[in-house]
Amino acid sequence: MVRKYIFVVGGVMSGVGKGIAASSIGRLLQDSGFEVTAFKIDPYINVDAGTMNPTEHGEVFILEDGTECDQDMGNYERFLERNFSKNNYMTTGSVYLSVINKERNLGYQGKCVEVVPHIPLAVIEKINFSLSSSKSEIGVIEIGGTVGEYQNILFLEAVRILKLKYPKDVLLCLVSYLPLLNKDNELKTKPTQYAVKTLNSAGLQPDIVLGRAAFPLDSKRREKIAFNCNLRKEDVFSAPDVETIYQVPLNFKKEGLDRLILEKLSLRKKADSFRKWKELVKKIAAVKKEVSIGIVGKYFASGSFVLTDSYISVIEAVKHAAFSLGFRPTISWLDASDFEETQRDPAQIKKNLETLKKYHGIIIPGGFGSRSVEGKIRVIQFVRENKIPFIGICYGMQLAVVEFTRNVLKLKRANTTEIDPATPFPVIDILPEQKINLEKKDFGGTMRLGIYPAVIKENSLAFRAYRKSHRFHLGPEEEKQARADSKKLVIKERHRHRYEVNPDYLKTLEKAGLSLSGLSPSGRLAEIVELPPNTHPFFVGTQFHPELTSRPLDPNPLFKEFIRTSSRRTSKNNKP
Ligand code: GLN
Repeated sequence: MVRKYIFVVGGVMSGVGKGIAASSIGRLLQDSGFEVTAFKIDPYINVDAGTMNPTEHGEVFILEDGTECDQDMGNYERFLERNFSKNNYMTTGSVYLSVINKERNLGYQGKCVEVVPHIPLAVIEKINFSLSSSKSEIGVIEIGGTVGEYQNILFLEAVRILKLKYPKDVLLCLVSYLPLLNKDNELKTKPTQYAVKTLNSAGLQPDIVLGRAAFPLDSKRREKIAFNCNLRKEDVFSAPDVETIYQVPLNFKKEGLDRLILEKLSLRKKADSFRKWKELVKKIAAVKKEVSIGIVGKYFASGSFVLTDSYISVIEAVKHAAFSLGFRPTISWLDASDFEETQRDPAQIKKNLETLKKYHGIIIPGGFGSRSVEGKIRVIQFVRENKIPFIGICYGMQLAVVEFTRNVLKLKRANTTEIDPATPFPVIDILPEQKINLEKKDFGGTMRLGIYPAVIKENSLAFRAYRKSHRFHLGPEEEKQARADSKKLVIKERHRHRYEVNPDYLKTLEKAGLSLSGLSPSGRLAEIVELPPNTHPFFVGTQFHPELTSRPLDPNPLFKEFIRTSSRRTSKNNKP
């Protein structure tokens, strides 16, 4: 079996779309008939992404096995339509931890363990294990950050060692940015030339340069990069801004990138199944009708910038669902503090709430801590009372339960113990197994993480959504493990939380009209809550994160139902 490595590194600045480039390359090679796996390396000391604030590093993506990782893993899963695991992700922290643990266990048999070569060798070992355990022929490996950063030098050293050993099987692809000072100027190649020189000083020469820029690279720019960076003109590719990221594989294919990669790795194309993806791009380009979705959150602000990276999977899930139904989504970012009494005066809040009517649907995604929570609860009350389609995810679901308890059950001081540990009505409470973690201050990788099953109640919105989506159904083996009733619809989705709907309140909530349409097989944990269709067109809360499993070619069914119902909200109801 062949084994090939394609490393993707970044030049000039981060955030130019290395992940999308790597995912697109992976998709093209997969559609050429190869078994492809993807791998993300992050150069920070955090052992995983779970302990990072999303405004620092973007969304924390969760894999099936519960790994808390970089948002790029989400791109890989969405582009390759695969589920990855902890074997597809590493950080500097996790490599050091494994090397130190091995040393403590005498795994190096008395040798002096050194940063070089032991760290790069451990990196290579992990990549190889990932390839062999997934029986993959090609690994696309993205190294986070940019070349020249002190912290990714050991990963570049791993590339150097591998390239030295297998010169014909390792390909290095530099995704570099070409700035444009003003529109009368030219795209500047000099920073890319410096990036290549930096790679050269690490003993590496890129095989391919992908020039990210606002526009396609013209012949002159390609020539300049090629000449100054020891490349042929045909090794320099253009990666201009695109309207949708899903267009990137098609653009690369048009430029012949997949052909060149196969040629450089001495591989012959085994199949051609790119048609499906091509049709997707065509379909996206053709959608005309608009669906407007408001996302109410708090992880947007970063200095004087508004960053939406914290909710990337939610955004993509909305897009997948909307595109598949023939809609172009417009997403508005609504800061939860605009609805909170400690921040705004009551008249202003009232005005702000009224503006919610202009959206087809409202989403409250996951979150942590007390900031802006009261604002979110006000929003939930408003969308519930005004019958605006709503989906609450994780914290969004927990706060929907708090709102319902306060305003329908009239238990005014109801709360989650995450915010008010002394509340007389702890309708959301800490999971018993989580209490110990908090007491020990054991925060890393200790939440309720990854896939868990949920038994779906018949005749519910959730049932209607998931019934035909077999990708989410439990297999016979999984059903046995979950001790689930195989006659019922049992689904699996990904989780990341420490708190739960307090089991003592389940009956009271149900009696008051909040349907518990998804429960854990034990019946103890609420997985989905919803209002029946005769009281609200779409009011659903999920303890899990449905956005994480949505794919452009196979949207998450709950998002699809949400967008379907939202899109039916007529313009008449839409007036604020
Ligand atoms: N803060 C809540 C909990 O820990 C919700 C978490 C989330 O939204 N991911 O349970």
